[in-house]
Amino acid sequence: MFNREEKIPEAEEILAKMPLPADLKKIKAERDALASAVIRGETDKLLVIIGPCSAHESKPVLDYVERLGKLNEKVKDRLVLVPRIYTNKPRTKGVGYKGMFTQPDPKSKEDILKGILTIRRLNIDAIGVSGLSAADEMLYPENYAYVEDLLTYIAIGARSSENQMHRLVSSGIDLPVGIKNPMSGSIPVLINSIYAAQSGGQVFKYQGWQVRTTGNKLAHAVLRGAVDGYGNDIPNFHYETVMKVVESYSKTGLENPAIIIDTNHSNSGKQFKQQIRIVEEVLNNRLYDRDFKKYVKGFMIESFIEEGNQHEDTVYGKSITDPCLGWADTERLVLDIADKV
Ligand code: PEP
Ligand code: MN
Repeated sequence: MFNREEKIPEAEEILAKMPLPADLKKIKAERDALASAVIRGETDKLLVIIGPCSAHESKPVLDYVERLGKLNEKVKDRLVLVPRIYTNKPRTKGVGYKGMFTQPDPKSKEDILKGILTIRRLNIDAIGVSGLSAADEMLYPENYAYVEDLLTYIAIGARSSENQMHRLVSSGIDLPVGIKNPMSGSIPVLINSIYAAQSGGQVFKYQGWQVRTTGNKLAHAVLRGAVDGYGNDIPNFHYETVMKVVESYSKTGLENPAIIIDTNHSNSGKQFKQQIRIVEEVLNNRLYDRDFKKYVKGFMIESFIEEGNQHEDTVYGKSITDPCLGWADTERLVLDIADKV
C-alpha cells in the first residue's frame, strides 16, 4: 500500500517559484561550456568533480564550496572544478539515509518538498559564493527536473547504469553525463549505457509528456572500481584496465570518448587517503601513454572539510556517508593535479 503523505508540486511550478537569478544563470552557462569543452577534447584542462559523498547540511557544504571557489582562482587555467553537491543517495542495502532530497535534515523525519526547496537554495547559493555550479547523481530520473537549471555535471551511479530510464533521460540532457561502470565492473554494460545515452530519437514518457530526445554526445565513462561475487573491491584505475576501456571505446565509434577516474568507492576500497596515491598514479600514466592521456580527462574525488566519516551528524563538515579527504589534503591534491596536467 502507498499511504499518500503530501502532494509534491511539479518541477515547472517549483522552478518558477525559486528561479536561478540572471547573474548566476550566466555563470552557470559559462561553467557548462567549460565542463563540456573538456569532454569534447577542446581543451587540455582536466575536469575535477570534487566534494563530499553526500551534502547532508547546507552550511558546511557552502563553506566547502566557497573554499573551492577560492582554490579555483589558482587552478582555473588548468582545471575545471565542479563541486559535488550530492542530494540523492543510493544505499547498498536499500535502507538508511537517502539524502537531502528525502530528508533535508538528517536528524528530522522525511520531507520531500522541503528537501527540494533546500536543494535549490543550496545550489543557487553555492553558485553565488563560489562561482561554481555543481554535480549531482541522477539517482531518480524523475527528480532531475527539479534541479536541471542548476547542475553542470550529472552522474549515473553504479547501481543505475543498466537502468532504462536513466539511459533514456541521459539521452535528453545537453550536459556532461558521467556514467559509472556497474558494480560488477562490466565494461560492455558501461559502453552500452554510453551508447544508449548518446543515441537520439528515443521516445518515452517524461514529466507528463511524450518526449523525443536528441541524444547526448557528452555522455562518457566514470571508472569507480568493481565488487566481485564475494564482496571484494577490484580497482579499475590501473593502467591495464583503463587501456581495456580505451580499446572498447575506440571499437564502438562513440563520440567524445572520455574517462573520469573515481578515486574513492571500489577504487580506494573506501580507504579515503588512498585517493591521493590513486590520483598520482593516474597522472603518471597520463605522462607515460598518449592514448591514456587522450581518454582520461579528469577525476571524481570525495572530499569535505573534516576527513573521514561519522555515523551521525555531530562533527561539522564531516561526511555521514562515504569517508572523504579533509580540506588540507584536498587543497594540496588539487594544486598538485594542476601542476601535473
Ligand atoms: C557516489 O559517487 O557517492 C556513489 C554512490 O557512487 P557509486 O554509484 O559509484 O557507488
Ligand atoms: Mn560516495
